[in-house]
Amino acid sequence: MKLYNSLTREVEEFKPLNPEVVTMYCCGPTVYLDAHIGNFRTYTTSDLVYRVLKFNNHTIRYIMNLTDVGHLTGDNSGDADTGEDRMEKSSKKEGKTAAEIAKYYTDLFMKDYDKLNLTRPNKFTKATEYIEQQIALVEVLEKKGFTYQTSDGIYFDTSKFESYGQLSGMKADNVLEGARVEINPEKKNATDFALWKLSSPYENRSQEWKSPWGTGFPGWHLECSAMALSELGSTIDVHVGGEDLRMIHHQNEIAQSECATEKKFVRYWIHSAFMMVDGGRMSKSGGTGYLLSDLEKRGFDPMALRYLYMTTHYRNQLNFTWEAITSAQNALKKIYDLARSYKHDDQTKPSHDFVNKFAASVSNDVNMPEALAVVWELLKSETSEQEKFATLMVMDEVLGLDIKGHLVYDTPQHIVDIAKTRQEYRKAGIWDKADQLRKQIIEAGYDIEDIPSGTYRLKRKM
Ligand code: AMP
Ligand code: ZN
Repeated sequence: MKLYNSLTREVEEFKPLNPEVVTMYCCGPTVYLDAHIGNFRTYTTSDLVYRVLKFNNHTIRYIMNLTDVGHLTGDNSGDADTGEDRMEKSSKKEGKTAAEIAKYYTDLFMKDYDKLNLTRPNKFTKATEYIEQQIALVEVLEKKGFTYQTSDGIYFDTSKFESYGQLSGMKADNVLEGARVEINPEKKNATDFALWKLSSPYENRSQEWKSPWGTGFPGWHLECSAMALSELGSTIDVHVGGEDLRMIHHQNEIAQSECATEKKFVRYWIHSAFMMVDGGRMSKSGGTGYLLSDLEKRGFDPMALRYLYMTTHYRNQLNFTWEAITSAQNALKKIYDLARSYKHDDQTKPSHDFVNKFAASVSNDVNMPEALAVVWELLKSETSEQEKFATLMVMDEVLGLDIKGHLVYDTPQHIVDIAKTRQEYRKAGIWDKADQLRKQIIEAGYDIEDIPSGTYRLKRKM
């Protein structure tokens, strides 16, 4: 299979370091707020990469972190070493401890995660449970001479890491040029970043730890390196995250990890492009930071969002509109309805040709739009119903649309009741009344098919 590697900026043949097990890490959410459908685009990209690896017979060890400390608000304007800790900010605002905030938003995150049928990683690692490893990592960097202390923390000296800027495409001093931030005058280079921040005497933090440098908390970039290295080893195969993380967060993850281990940190970097809303940036304050629950309230199935994600290649921006999610839901319903209508058995084998074509698309840098086109080609083909069904089941291992779970149609009770009454009229030979009810059923969007055995089958009209 092939993957586009953001480090080399090329589509490369994927070869794991250890053929027995592929190691994979995805930067997960900061659990201080609900994750919106833009965030979930990135986790869906990660899920698709995972599924495609599995489809290609790899065994994967998959880690996703939950950031529950140290992600500062300054990150929004390009300097993640300044501003307030998001967890502390939420905890003050909501009158709860940071741990309570983390639990609350983690639970919400998991609900949506599962509704989108995203594969659970082997472990969700919480930053607060890796403090020891984070301190140890800073100590290694300190011993090797990569750090210096300022009044507010321990910083990484990026000028000492020669390949700084390889991932972002920029050299140390010009990365932050033009950023909307004033550069901390105590930093030696604009790109230097905090490994460990000292608690401010003016702030009463609900989460802080003792360290050799004083009481404080870890830097956000450090957390990911420490968790990835301790769970997956010095070199990991695949690292996924949103495209906004490439310039700084991931560049810093590389710097810390490689300076500490002297090994290549990540072999394939995957960056998922952003989701836009009506052509603009998603924003909570602008009312476009939609949550999955906002879609559900308007009658959309979470799987329709999953389908919508797959209509655009993960490296291209995806524009969310209500029309787009409506078309996604219609297309998805058609797939479910067709699958439900197909005769199927356990003996029929999937179509070799269609599975191969589908495999070629998904294995070509996770080209889901092309894979969906293959699905439609199959559904419209002359292939037998049994074979179509068997093939769809194989494809769904990657699509993750839970087609199997949607085979039984939950017809609304009032339609079932009308159908039952109609059946009674038919048995009694009252044909005109039976016909009237049949019309009612059709008008409500259903088809009723009488089966020779004397019963009937209700189907949603397509
Ligand atoms: P955060 O909780 O802000 O750290 O973001 C969590 C993840 O969601 C990161 O990998 C971001 O890159 C990603 N992300 C944030 N906004 C969007 C968006 N509009 N579209 C896609 N991914 C996003
Ligand atoms: Zn990260």
